[in-house]
Amino acid sequence: MSRRYEHLLQPLDLGFTQIKNRVVMGSMHTGLEDRFYNYSKLAAYFAERAKGGVGLLITGGIAPNRQGWLLPAGGTMNMLGDVLPHRLVTRAVHRHGAKILMQILHAGRYGYQPFVVSASAIKSPISPFKPRKMSERNIQQTIVDFAQCAALAKAAGYDGVEVMGSEGYLINQFLSRHVNQRQDQWGGEIQNRMRFAVEIVKAIRAKVGEKFIISFRLSMIDLVKDGNSMQDVIAVAQALEQAGVTLMNTGIGWHEARVPTIVTSVPRAAFVEYTAEVKKHLRIPVIASNRINMPDTAEQILATGQADMVQMARPLLADPEWVKKTEQGRVDEINTCIACNQACLDHTFKNIRATCLVNPRAAYETELVYRKAKQHKRIAVVGGGVAGMSAAMVAAERGHQVTLFEARDELGGQFNLAKVVPGKEEFHQTIRYFKSKIAKLKIEVRLNTKINREQLQREGFDDVVVATGVVPRDLQLTGQARLRVLSYADVLRGAEVGKRVAVIGAGGIGFDVAEFLLKPEQQPQPQPLAQWQREWGVDRNAHYDSAGGLSQPHVDAPIREIYLMQRKDTPLGIGLGKTTGWVHRAQLKKHAVKMLSGVSYKQVTEEGLWIHHQGHDQLLRVDTIVVCAGQESVRDIMPAESQWGNQTYHIIGGAKLAAELDAKRAIRDGAELAARL
Ligand code: NAP
Ligand code: SF4
Repeated sequence: MSRRYEHLLQPLDLGFTQIKNRVVMGSMHTGLEDRFYNYSKLAAYFAERAKGGVGLLITGGIAPNRQGWLLPAGGTMNMLGDVLPHRLVTRAVHRHGAKILMQILHAGRYGYQPFVVSASAIKSPISPFKPRKMSERNIQQTIVDFAQCAALAKAAGYDGVEVMGSEGYLINQFLSRHVNQRQDQWGGEIQNRMRFAVEIVKAIRAKVGEKFIISFRLSMIDLVKDGNSMQDVIAVAQALEQAGVTLMNTGIGWHEARVPTIVTSVPRAAFVEYTAEVKKHLRIPVIASNRINMPDTAEQILATGQADMVQMARPLLADPEWVKKTEQGRVDEINTCIACNQACLDHTFKNIRATCLVNPRAAYETELVYRKAKQHKRIAVVGGGVAGMSAAMVAAERGHQVTLFEARDELGGQFNLAKVVPGKEEFHQTIRYFKSKIAKLKIEVRLNTKINREQLQREGFDDVVVATGVVPRDLQLTGQARLRVLSYADVLRGAEVGKRVAVIGAGGIGFDVAEFLLKPEQQPQPQPLAQWQREWGVDRNAHYDSAGGLSQPHVDAPIREIYLMQRKDTPLGIGLGKTTGWVHRAQLKKHAVKMLSGVSYKQVTEEGLWIHHQGHDQLLRVDTIVVCAGQESVRDIMPAESQWGNQTYHIIGGAKLAAELDAKRAIRDGAELAARL
């Protein structure tokens, strides 16, 4: 066992049961839990993480009744017939010595269905459905349903349940004045607002007995108007402990909060101090959560006594062997979650199966399988971006002999540009991961090598994978030689930029470039926590008195005047990720970036850029123009036919299709191709 992570790898004794280490795989809705016929896939997904060494796993949210559905016909446990598919999951996990809890989630007013209920009839800003206020009878029946659900979970072989009481779901709606405006015994002072949560826990405990884990996920900081103070949170936590909770888990912010809580720009372990504050007042073990993705961060939290366990969900999607690699001192081989949300939460919110951008096998364990190759081939991969690295790695893992050619002097491709954008520092980790795997698998890497077909033929490769990627689109603007006109790649590689800038193109990269240009040169990266809290208006006092832990946001004056533009007349940024786009839009708005849609670009002069906007021509007096107008494929090495001489050519990633290219497609393309070679 690695002594470096001794706190993380230490068992936890709960008296009636033991958990083999301090790593909790937090609840994450994959979409597989909603249909009984997907439970064998769900079992394989959890089994892989249990085999990888996780101590305690928690399923995605399962509703205790129909009113509690997050989505129509979502996963429910309220009849004996619901138990059977879950047994596949519990058996698969227990086979590897891990423990598993079923999370009980009643969505309340966050349900995407017309029968939603809540503490009060107040619609949430992120849901189209107005909830009905729950009657006394409805409340009592819901408590019974929670207890029945937990009893059925026990029958299904779970080691316990987690009661979802945070992130703005039903129980949180009762706990906070933000939604709870009742005058009866379930509303008013905190003693009344917590009654629903406490009665649920008491009812569950009475039904399941003492030797069954009850975890409660409690909002440590609501981050919404009229949310609870830390004193309220502590009072609730103590009452829940009294009522029979075994583990106190952390929830941070409501889904409707306008403070980011898990996106990549949130500093690592940003909210741990609030959990530590609650822990001071409890005897039961406490679990820390949010933006913990690497063993050093996790170990630090445990070693300093801020929590007893650490919860990660997305990092274990990214790497099911996270714990095993930590135990074996192979931390450099961890495929780190970059907190992009692109393939997990963004999928969930679009009602498609969650997976992971950096690990396309996540939730596809039975479908994307890397079998040992029957015939070992010599494979050339041309292009060392993420598509090429992904293909090279999987091909080598399967037993092929792989050579990776890269024209530049470093591997990483477009990720080398992304990693310098403020708040995207985690992208370094993906490059580090691929590089260590490439070294471990003894893939031959030839940097500074622009290979051609004849050379590849001479070297006798069996297959050639073309992963030559993209170049930024050059718009050839009329008069562009008269002013400083740069591509986004020039800017992110360090070209000098003036103080008044027009950014042409407002896709993901246009937004990234605008954020890059707003960063003062001396600002350290990643952004220090205190500065981030100040910018987003998060109360820095761990024992905050402010409602919901909110304070007045403070933003420094912008260092540049920036126009961000697109030709479409839709609002800017609507194509960005569902769970991340609002953060980027808010960030640019705070820094007074002028966002223009419905623009046409006329010409460039020494004075600036002439555009046509809202019916008339106007001059933007800028000194620099940055073009972020998409990309074009680089495929000069690809022959017209896939067979060239005795070699078979394959094309992947941006080289295959530049439009709407993203790293999710690039990495998956590489892995899927290499799984077939
Ligand atoms: P993109 O999202 O396709 O955006 C290209 C932008 O250029 C659009 O705003 C488009 O708007 C404009 N454009 C396209 N052709 C143009 C032309 N001929 N003249 C002038 N403007 C033109 O591509 P991207 O920003 O380059 O990003 C590449 C990929 O990386 C995308 O798939 C993106 O999702 C991904 N990415 C994502 C993030 C993220 O945060 N999630 C960040 C970076 C990159 P108009 O056509 O309306 O002018
Ligand atoms: Fe993490 Fe992105 Fe993978 Fe989600 S898709 S698990 S955020 S790396």
